[in-house]
Amino acid sequence: MRITQNFRHYLRAFLLTELIRGLAVTSRHLFARKITVRYPEEKTPQSPRFRGLHALRRYPNGEERCIACKLCEAVCPAACITIDSYERPDGTRRTSLYDIDLFKCIYCGFCEEACPVDAVVLTRIYEFHYEKRGDNVIHKEQLLGIGDRLEAQIAADRAADAPYR
Ligand code: SF4
Ligand code: SF4
Repeated sequence: MRITQNFRHYLRAFLLTELIRGLAVTSRHLFARKITVRYPEEKTPQSPRFRGLHALRRYPNGEERCIACKLCEAVCPAACITIDSYERPDGTRRTSLYDIDLFKCIYCGFCEEACPVDAVVLTRIYEFHYEKRGDNVIHKEQLLGIGDRLEAQIAADRAADAPYR
């Protein structure tokens, strides 16, 4: 058995079959259509499931979706979500603080999956930067602002993904 294996090994080495296979792959790609994306003027297509910057959503009547259940905070493997809550006069609960430390976030999407009311979502935004220390922590008002600005896109993406959930 071992002799047969050795023989095969030497035969392959002698006939240069691996080299020929490698050259065949190279030549296939040599004549294939070249794809060069001239970023940032051109962008690659994005999936509706793309996991970029977070947003907090509202209902059509303007009410925040988030009910401060803290499931996203509990499930986050990077421990980057910080939530504080308060009770409103009508007995419902809302967040008084909703911070995400984007330096810690690994964009896993677990927060989005855990949310029972589709409040926290990851958007298609992937081009963002920080200009001073502390900018890496994004606050509730900023998150709601992103949600307000991108609601149409977020709703369309979630509808496209709904059959697979
Ligand atoms: S995407 Fe993942 S790491 Fe980032 S906040 Fe959500 S659960 Fe945490
Ligand atoms: S974003 Fe969703 S999971 Fe997180 S506290 Fe609000 S309702 Fe709960």
